[in-house]
Amino acid sequence: MVQQHTPMIQQYLKIKAEYQDAFLFFRLGDFYELFFEDAVKASQELEITLTSRDGGTRERIPMCGVPHHSASGYIENLIQKGYKVAICEQTEDPKHAKGVVKREVVQLITPGTVMDGKGISAKENNYIAAIANFSGQTFGVAYTDLSTGENRVTVLDGSEDLLLDELATIGAKEVVACPNEDEDLLRKIKERCQAVISYEESSHTQDEFQPILQKLNTAELQESAQRLLHYLKKTQKRSLDHLQPFAIYENNQHMKIDFYSKRNLEITEPIRGKDKKGTLLWLLDETSTAMGGRLLRQWIDRPLISKNMIEKRLLLVELFIEHYFERLDLQELLKSVYDLERLAGRVAFGNANARDFIQLKKSLMQIPAIRSLIEGMENEETDKLAQALDPCEELTDLLERAVAENPPISVKEGGIIKDDYHTELDQYRDASRNGKSWIAALEKEEREKTGIRSLKVGYNRVFGYYIEVTRANVKLLEEGRYERKQTLTNAERFITPELKEKEALILQADERSIELEYDLFLDLRNQVKEFIPRLQQTAKIISEIDIYQSFATVSETRYYVKPELHFNRELTLENGRHPVVEKVMGSQEYVPNDCMMDEEKEMLLITGPNMSGKSTYMRQIALTAVMAQIGCFVPASKAKLPIFDQIFTRIGAADDLISGQSTFMVEMLEAKNAITHATKNSLILFDEIGRGTSTYDGMALAQAIIEHIHDQIGAKTLFSTHYHELTELDKQLFHLNNVHVSAVEQQGKLVFLHKVKDGPADKSYGIHVAELADLPQSLIQRAEEILGELEQANGKQKPSVSVKAAAKESAVISRSNEQLAFFSEPKESAVDKHEKKVLKEIEDLNLLEMNPLQALNVLFSLQKKLRN
Ligand code: ADP
Ligand code: MG
Repeated sequence: MVQQHTPMIQQYLKIKAEYQDAFLFFRLGDFYELFFEDAVKASQELEITLTSRDGGTRERIPMCGVPHHSASGYIENLIQKGYKVAICEQTEDPKHAKGVVKREVVQLITPGTVMDGKGISAKENNYIAAIANFSGQTFGVAYTDLSTGENRVTVLDGSEDLLLDELATIGAKEVVACPNEDEDLLRKIKERCQAVISYEESSHTQDEFQPILQKLNTAELQESAQRLLHYLKKTQKRSLDHLQPFAIYENNQHMKIDFYSKRNLEITEPIRGKDKKGTLLWLLDETSTAMGGRLLRQWIDRPLISKNMIEKRLLLVELFIEHYFERLDLQELLKSVYDLERLAGRVAFGNANARDFIQLKKSLMQIPAIRSLIEGMENEETDKLAQALDPCEELTDLLERAVAENPPISVKEGGIIKDDYHTELDQYRDASRNGKSWIAALEKEEREKTGIRSLKVGYNRVFGYYIEVTRANVKLLEEGRYERKQTLTNAERFITPELKEKEALILQADERSIELEYDLFLDLRNQVKEFIPRLQQTAKIISEIDIYQSFATVSETRYYVKPELHFNRELTLENGRHPVVEKVMGSQEYVPNDCMMDEEKEMLLITGPNMSGKSTYMRQIALTAVMAQIGCFVPASKAKLPIFDQIFTRIGAADDLISGQSTFMVEMLEAKNAITHATKNSLILFDEIGRGTSTYDGMALAQAIIEHIHDQIGAKTLFSTHYHELTELDKQLFHLNNVHVSAVEQQGKLVFLHKVKDGPADKSYGIHVAELADLPQSLIQRAEEILGELEQANGKQKPSVSVKAAAKESAVISRSNEQLAFFSEPKESAVDKHEKKVLKEIEDLNLLEMNPLQALNVLFSLQKKLRN
């Protein structure tokens, strides 16, 4: 006989079929249960016990569960791990159910749609994006932060790379694609953005969303936005009234920094780890509100290229610097402004409680004061900001009248609405209060009547109100009037008809008032909903103001200067600093540097010993450009900057010595990216390119790259190199100039001055760095000897960038050099076979193909062999 699953399991399987890629939390009484595969996986992920149950068939069904009241923690946990969770509730009262209780999925929670809890941080947006792919030629990208209602959409005209960079810039946690989207592309999205992929077929028009889709006038915009909305509606199954009209943006309205360069420069994420410390965002974030923090991140992710817009921001920062005391007051006021955007989101979403209303009221009450502070700055731009701040007085009034000062979290247990707000509610409350005082009076009355001084009137949930008398006194009670209800060890509890009558009145009044309070709360929530667009508008302005005060605070305390932006070729930084390194090490220690570039100096070739500060210098210029273009002051005493359209970097992974082939490949890919996309208005940083391959290859490539940028692109370029020979190039390349980071020798030791000067570095200081690293003194001496000999040998040659010929000749010279004592008259007796092998290895070394540090590495390993 074929066995069938029980009806409930059949119901489960039917629902589960629609939510294959999610954990199905199946409500069963007070628990959410998971079955089958879900149960096995969830029990591992959540470390809960796996059990099993009979499901009607021979095999028992794996099962695990969590209590519904503590489910949110488990759900958050799964979401954070990148899973989706479908919440399936009982949608009818089990008492009235015929057969299996009806159940339905009421919400699909996903990494991109989670509204609260650990998964989303206050100062970060939680974005979900949808893409529309038009034959790989153009893409529509729409994205939403469900918690704030912000909606943006754009069209990208170009390759997949552009799409990947855009999604990474957005930082989408989840990307919704058409079910037949190219799998290869989706895999790349997953890897690059660490995003979860979801699917949504439909992208046709829905009337209810027309108002927020109105302006979208191309197929790409429409399709991506529609796909996103369909997905949200399908998964959230509730009001999405807080979604704002889609704002169309163009990705060429911003300075472009590709994904790798962003990471290299540590703009918002550090190169390693997750700690924000050490990033530009960390440096600039002095915001007082979560909303300001989120907007700041958006600004930093998308520096501007419109001179007007940048200058408007700079002007405001300047005003906020000048108005020092107002700024301090402002910071205090902002601290009392809660997250209006997310409050609005919760109101629309239906999960706001009365405490949210109190926060909302308190926040709005700060607005008039903020407004008058801003107005006091007396400028056209600050006036505009002040005008746009809407204190929503009607709403503040309403909340002030309606909501109690310290309401409970629960919205279903009363205690939310103030007295005098609603007549009927007041009546119930009177009844309840009168009843209670009647009962209090009863105690006195009964004591007098019975003469029992210890008589008490009490209340418990099971028996309601009762009269308690100690056992010894029971005999004093009048016969027939008191009905015994409960016997305790030393006392008896009684009720009387009057007591029960009053009790009924009180309980009824309490029950009615709690019901009514809930209705009033819902009504209030609907009224607040009407204000959502106004709240969102005010939230936006508050966020902006918060950023200006943050920029002003950082700029003032760190002595930054207002940059002058222009469209010609000049780049002047006097006393420029790397803002983050300076903050970490302290301004006392940090050595400021100038940077002067113009039409004749489009490219700087930077030489200098390891650890002298080449990389720091290059990065500081890129960071300064980013800071200027987001509208912040910059770390210098004077700054004139062109407006850059893009920044490209190739920065070695923390100066790794043993760079394998794969690193070299990455290096070349990044170089290619820069060379294909850079324009005359871009900024390129190439830090020790060509390091990952042999000397000849590396140097040849480096030279070819420099020539290409010089002749074909003309972008502002900073190029650091350990190939000394390249410094000769300034004779051939008009726009190329040599600078070096200086170091001096003092008593045989190398002292870094971190000072950038004109001209090439005259010496490679690798050995001195080794000395600083405390390699054995004998080894250092030997290295110096060898270097001396090599230099002598080389000195006879004219250094030249036509590498091959020169290197060949010097190799011959060094090999025939008599002074290489290693090779002169080996004494057979003292040299055993092992040593001979080492000697042979030394003989075979081509020292000219190594940089000093590589030579040291070899020397180190040779020494180890000898000691063994
Ligand atoms: P390079 O790229 O030349 O090897 P780095 O730029 O990595 O050198 O700098 C090495 C170290 O020197 C940095 O970690 C930093 O602590 C310090 N440094 C760099 N520039 C400066 C400066 N201008 N003032 C003070 N210290 C600096
Ligand atoms: Mg470096």
